[in-house]
Amino acid sequence: MAMKPHVALLPSPGMGHIIPLFELAKRLVIHHGFRVSFFVIVTEPSTAQNQFLRSPSLPPDLNVIYLPQADMSSIVTDETPVFDRLCLTVRETLRSFRSVLVELNRPSALIIDIFCTDAIDICNELSIPTYSFFTASTALLAFSLYLPKLDREVQGEYVDLPEPVQAPGCKPIRTEDLLDQVRNRKTSEYKWFLFHVSRLPMVAGIFVNTWEDFEPVPLKSLKENPFFHQLPTPPVHPVGPLIKVDEPMTASDAEVLTWLDKQPSDSVLLVALGSGGTLSNEQFTEFAWGLELSQKRFILVARKPIDDDVAGAFFNSGSEVNKPVSYLPEGFMRRTEGVGLVLPSWAPQVAVLRHRSTGGFLSHCGWNSLLESIVHGVPIIAWPLYAEQKMNTRMLVEEVGVAVLPVAEPGKRVIGRKEIERVVRLLMEGDEGKVMRRRARELQESARKALNYALSFSVQLSMEATASNLSPSQNPKDLLI
Ligand code: UDP
Repeated sequence: MAMKPHVALLPSPGMGHIIPLFELAKRLVIHHGFRVSFFVIVTEPSTAQNQFLRSPSLPPDLNVIYLPQADMSSIVTDETPVFDRLCLTVRETLRSFRSVLVELNRPSALIIDIFCTDAIDICNELSIPTYSFFTASTALLAFSLYLPKLDREVQGEYVDLPEPVQAPGCKPIRTEDLLDQVRNRKTSEYKWFLFHVSRLPMVAGIFVNTWEDFEPVPLKSLKENPFFHQLPTPPVHPVGPLIKVDEPMTASDAEVLTWLDKQPSDSVLLVALGSGGTLSNEQFTEFAWGLELSQKRFILVARKPIDDDVAGAFFNSGSEVNKPVSYLPEGFMRRTEGVGLVLPSWAPQVAVLRHRSTGGFLSHCGWNSLLESIVHGVPIIAWPLYAEQKMNTRMLVEEVGVAVLPVAEPGKRVIGRKEIERVVRLLMEGDEGKVMRRRARELQESARKALNYALSFSVQLSMEATASNLSPSQNPKDLLI
């Protein structure tokens, strides 16, 4: 019997990266007959991550490999910014990657995500083709490919430019919506980001977790605009929306679903700010009050407020003791009993979004979360926190029409409880909410069709490759999509 083709995947740390690459890995095994090595870069222990990657129901040809943990003690300090820590950890961990790949008898291809481009050089040495799986929007991909040119041509800060920034053929990005990593060019964060995106053209192909109907403008531009041709941009394949389909359930997750079973259709608002998003103390208090005042049913994923850091995303240890009652407004639990559930740290997000009782999602608009919401036809209250979430929000509110954005009163640092109450009511009972829900359901249908198409297209290609006697290991590109 012919050996199954062997592909390896390398996500950067953080659930927002691990989840979509893992989904791709499962599909390559289940639908396309691949053998997959899925590498994990170890940071701090994360309960959610371990539960996810060690699920007993994984297919046998999907091998999760924890790379030897790098000693970061002399490289990072408590002051090292989160994003730098992420990039440094990846770089240090990859020092042993060459020997890992050799030991595995060289996979036919390696699929990396954006902050793992150090692996490209190692793969080049070993003649292993590298592909990129871009886990954010195509709009951000286009901007990222354009960034090296901006860097060469623009003096001063992008945020001070008089006009919005525009990647060729794409919608303009308002300077206030630019992603965190490019807001201050003097930072090491910017330099890391520029380093990785400058290397994107070195890969053999880029998979994006999106679909044509959802992001027609940037997808067209990447295909047709002369700038991207000349770069040259590797072939871009929309393969999405890839979201978690089955997540391992704990006993407390099952209780959440049992509670949802008892609620009316479309009546519950899920409140979850991604894998690591946190609010300030003041904001969290307003947030909880707004939720309570709205009198709508809710599931609140509560994280301990932190005053000056909204983005623990990559290094959210999950091991900290989290007691929401110690930071929720006094009496909140008692007053909202029966109306809402408070879950410390983590929710089975996809299972909740899939449930018929869930009618809205207050989300930080990370790319995975917004895809999960749309795939289940759930409209959104946008609460962007970090990275490119403001860009995502703008797209959902102004172009797609499935989200509402609460705003702070002029001169105020936080969004007040009245505004939160207003948007929750608007989404859950107002006419505007109904229009957004209808739009989300239309997109749900288009997402379903897109995914079927992406799947059958790639199955067809793998069959063609096999029929023409192409050795899969010689031609991974034809097999992947
Ligand atoms: N997630 C979850 N439960 C939570 C919070 C997050 O399952 O309580 C999952 C969510 O379903 C999504 C991922 O974590 O798949 C977060 O990715 P996203 O891109 O939305 O945001 P990030 O965490 O990278 O900022």
